[in-house]
Formats: sequence, structure tokens, C-alpha cells
Amino acid sequence: MNSNVTRLQSALVAANVPALLVSDITNVQWLTGFSGSSGFVVVTPRDGVFITDSRYTIQAGEEVSDLPVASFGSPVRFTDFLGESLKTLGVSQLAFEKSVTYGTWDDWKKQVPGVEWTPAPDVIKPLRMVKTAFEVAKIREACKLADACLGHVQRLLQPGVTEYDISLDIEFFFRRNGAEIGFAPIVASGPNSARPHATPSERKLETGDFVTLDIGGKLDGWNSDITRTFVIGKASERHREIYELVLKAEVSCIAALVPGAKGVEVDALARKILDEKDLAKYFGHGLGHGLGKAVHDLGGLSTRSEDVIEAGQVWTIEPGVYIEGFGGVRIEDDVHVTSDGPEILTHYPKELTELS
Ligand code: ZN
Ligand code: ZN
Repeated sequence: MNSNVTRLQSALVAANVPALLVSDITNVQWLTGFSGSSGFVVVTPRDGVFITDSRYTIQAGEEVSDLPVASFGSPVRFTDFLGESLKTLGVSQLAFEKSVTYGTWDDWKKQVPGVEWTPAPDVIKPLRMVKTAFEVAKIREACKLADACLGHVQRLLQPGVTEYDISLDIEFFFRRNGAEIGFAPIVASGPNSARPHATPSERKLETGDFVTLDIGGKLDGWNSDITRTFVIGKASERHREIYELVLKAEVSCIAALVPGAKGVEVDALARKILDEKDLAKYFGHGLGHGLGKAVHDLGGLSTRSEDVIEAGQVWTIEPGVYIEGFGGVRIEDDVHVTSDGPEILTHYPKELTELS
């Protein structure tokens, strides 16, 4: 299996980039397996080095196996050390990533003399979007934990329990099971469920509420992201009508995630289905996003998407309908695209569930 380093080296050759400084920490983590918060990688078509500081020397030695590890400590500055490393590698022209701020680039230019700095083409994005089998296995594990978390907290979904208490229990579950929370959990009940990114409040769940939970754990550096909406008490006709159509859109869009499909078309399918009952006007966000080292990983399914679906990608599919004053429904699963069809990674039941 090719490591991400060798995948990147091939991409550098194809893009005619003599050397790349990877400074975006998520890219660094993706490239090397490093889990610390400060590290840089210089990659050339044949060579490379992972650079960190003394806080992470031991950790990097354990985690980074595809590149030599070099570290520096006080009084040496990063830029001094980088300059020496570039000399050793014979690099005189260095591409830098888009995410570098103007101020940082300005400092680097002054502090690393003899190097020509050039903006890098986006060579990492297409690589990060197509996951290796190892990476998919990691995401699959994170998804299993998210399913288990929903199973654990569903018993709390009853009248009188606050959104905030439910969100705390979600956080505790992930942390207790060796994960981080991938993002602050969304627990949105009743009228709050009309806010797609509601913040959990002291509101107590009531009979007749929709309640939406959008949660994800980051396990071993890889994310999951799942949303389920429940009804507290008996579902009304209106609850049922909205829920069933969102579910139909979700299931149909998952089936449409096949290699060669266009992101913009999959998004349009959701809107077309919701329009069967004039509900598309209540769906204001994109249909889904890439999932991986970041929760909102690279790639998007939206009305403006330019992404094309490829085997190995992992996407969320999350249509929603949000009606101010009434409430909202979102249903979200994580999906691995394969040449044999979509593999759904999150498995929590999604038929309309009435809880009391
Ligand atoms: Zn989500
Ligand atoms: Zn999501």
C-alpha cells in the first residue's frame, strides 16, 4: 500500500513542484500520522523531512514512520532550522500552502534567505479526499462509536430533560470511550430544532417536540458525524409528512453516491424530492461534506459543488427541513463510495421513532 507520503511525492512530480512545505496541521497529521499540534513537513519528489520542536520529539519519533524526524529547541528558531533543513535537502524553490497567512509568509521570506517561495497548487486536496483502506477502517471505527453514543443517550430523550444535560452525556460518552468530541454536540428540541446549528440550551424536552441530535466523535484522529431526529410523544401528521420526505431524500441521495456522479447533481436530487411537498425552500444548507481528519473535511455537496464523486471518498449526506416556529428534521449518515456502490458507515435506525 502506498503511504500518503509516496502519494504526495507522485503528485508533486505530476504538478512539477520541486518541493512543498506542508504547514497546515491537519495536512501534516494526514500525511504523517503525527497527532501533536505543531509540526511541518518538507516534501520533495524523492525525499522529505518532518520537523517539530522539542515538545514533540519523543511523540514524533513514535508516530512518524514514513519520514525522518528532525526537531529543534530553544534558542533555535523554526525558520533557522527550516533553512538548514532545506540546504541539506538541496531545496532552493519551496512551494507554500494557501492557508499560510500573509504575516507568516512575510516572516519566512525574511528569515529563510536564499529560498524562492512560490504558492503551491492544491496537490493535497484530491489525495485527502480519496481515503486509503486504512483510513476508511479508522472512520468506520469512529462511526461505530457514534452509533453506540446515540444508543447510549436515547434513553435520556424524554419530557423534562434539558438539551444541555443530553449534550453533556454525549460528550462524556465519547471521552470515556477514548475519543474526543469531533464538534460540540447539537441537541435541538421543539422550536430550537428549526435552527440547523442550534446550541444546546436549558430548554426541557416536551411532548410534541422534534428533537435533533447531531453528534460525532474523533477517534484516533478520524471523525464521525451522524444526525437523528426523534419525536417526543406521538408524532402528528405534520411531523410524519416532513420526516418521511427528509428520509426519502436522504436514502435516495445515498444511493446516488456512485463514482462519476457530480456533487451538484446529488444535491439537486435532495431538493427535487423535498419539493414534492414544497419543502425545499426550508433546506438552506448544503447536502453534505467530505469526512476524514476534519469533520468538515475537503469537498462539498451543494448547489455550487464542483466535486465529482470517486471511489474511496467518504461523504456525509444530511438533508434537512427547518420551519421557524414549528421545528426541524435532519437525518445524516456517513457514506464510503465504492465501485460496488455506497457503503453506509453509520447504522443507527432511522425510521420515525416516537419516544416518551
Ligand atoms: Zn453532523
Ligand atoms: Zn455533517
